[in-house]
Amino acid sequence: MVRGALVPLRGAPVHGGPVLDLRGPGELGERSGDVARWLYLGSQDEVGYLAAVLQDDVAADSPADSPADSPTDSPTDVATAGAGADRWVSLRDVGAALSDRDAGLATAAVGLVAWHRSMVHCPRCGTDLLVEESGWLLRCPLDASAHYPRTDPAVIVALVDASDRLLLAHATHWSPLRFSNVAGFVEPGESGEQAVRREVAEETGVLVGAVTYLGSQPWPFPASLMLAFRATAETTEVTADGVELSEARWFTRAGLSDDVDAGRVTLPGRASIARVMIEDWFGGTLPGE
Ligand SMILES: [Zn+2]
Repeated sequence: MVRGALVPLRGAPVHGGPVLDLRGPGELGERSGDVARWLYLGSQDEVGYLAAVLQDDVAADSPADSPADSPTDSPTDVATAGAGADRWVSLRDVGAALSDRDAGLATAAVGLVAWHRSMVHCPRCGTDLLVEESGWLLRCPLDASAHYPRTDPAVIVALVDASDRLLLAHATHWSPLRFSNVAGFVEPGESGEQAVRREVAEETGVLVGAVTYLGSQPWPFPASLMLAFRATAETTEVTADGVELSEARWFTRAGLSDDVDAGRVTLPGRASIARVMIEDWFGGTLPGE
């Protein structure tokens, strides 16, 4: 079994935030013996970038994977960080502060490594899979079946009512006080817009009118593409389903600001598209990491 991406952070930031500590294959020190395989991430200006998949003991203290029943709270994978000694940090924690290049490298590495961690055996016959295409294809040597990295689409919605209030919800498995936009995975045969209407109706009872696409964010925890939408509500009565959501309610801008200031509400982190959507509706920056 393999796990972990060696994507260290170190050194003087050139853009005011953390930077990846990129190392050559001969500069891994005590980690060099742990590398199970190399994955090619891409190249820029004639420099190639690789991610190292490490043996399972390397990331033993990293956050454990949990059932990804909600794409906004699926497991956080790790990049290693350190000045001198390596340590593991969360991409969720540092992602918003990385440069575009480093964020792109780290998200690709974490997503691809997560796939290599989970996709070890052929799903047809159980034979160990072999790496092809620089890590972007796994093939079964027995039945020749080819397996590519999966990306599961999920939707997240900034839902506003006629009074321009924003619907935010608390999922049952989140830490207390945390509120975010309604989100969920796209089901087979659905469009993103249909998934928005279904998820909101299922989890809150609110009927959704117009739905507009905003943008997307790769969210490799472990393998989602988050599709963001803005939508208008046709009804305002909220009934949290009690299964995925324990609470959902409408926030005015003043009410949300007061709740965040007073510590009654915690918002999603700055690396998430959810935070961008909330602050876009709010019209400015809200406090908190
Ligand atoms: Zn097979």
